[in-house]
Amino acid sequence: MTPINQQLIAELEKIEDAGPLIHEIFSRFGPRAAIGTSGQLTGVAMIDLAVSSGTLPRVFTIDTLRLFPETYQLFDKIEKKYRLKVERIKPDPKKLAAMVKEHGEHLFFDSKQKQEMCCNLRKVEPNERVLDTVDVWLTGLRADQSKGRAKTSRFEIIAHGPDKRPILKVSPLVAWTEKQLREYAAQHQVPVHPLLDWNQDGWYYESLGCVICTTPIGPDEPRRAGRWRWFNNLEDNDKECGIHKVHKDEV
Ligand code: SF4
Repeated sequence: MTPINQQLIAELEKIEDAGPLIHEIFSRFGPRAAIGTSGQLTGVAMIDLAVSSGTLPRVFTIDTLRLFPETYQLFDKIEKKYRLKVERIKPDPKKLAAMVKEHGEHLFFDSKQKQEMCCNLRKVEPNERVLDTVDVWLTGLRADQSKGRAKTSRFEIIAHGPDKRPILKVSPLVAWTEKQLREYAAQHQVPVHPLLDWNQDGWYYESLGCVICTTPIGPDEPRRAGRWRWFNNLEDNDKECGIHKVHKDEV
């Protein structure tokens, strides 16, 4: 088993291009590596890069049970095109029922604390569960997505779970721009989420999450402004669902 340490990062750092990097990771780790995607362009491009390099990647999504219908349709399309399974990791049904019973279905409007409670149960916990099964987690984070994400590294070792097991978190397309991604998608016929092509009077979807909590953004708005719009007085660091924040204090 390849240990997760700085030496591994040093070896992988030498591979500059995303396609060969993803290929190398799956060659070394097989199903102990997985691409996590919410259906954004970056995630689908990573799947395309993997398959084009002759790799059948393990892919998962966190299915909050509140995703847009178009998101579910996209995953069906990805499965068909790339002949793979997108694992749909769902929230714990008992905990979910208890939360909804106590706080209501739309608790995220009430306070930042309740929004985080909902995100924690529907997103962070299921994500932690899938991390139990991997050594390498490939994410679609990009530096140009928000101020909070500008300092994202291509490689990061995170401490997972109570025993703080090291997991290598890789963001192979961290330096790609939106333009590059769009060009790649067009050249390679990558399935694009229909909402990412939606545009009305300059308003468009910058990111994809749960219905209600995700709205389009206007031409001059910051890229995360469409998430939990009712909290737009907060720093964009506070406009993360928690999946990528949960390990920050432990690294
Ligand atoms: S984005 Fe909204 S509905 Fe989805 S998990 Fe977070 S608070 Fe809940």
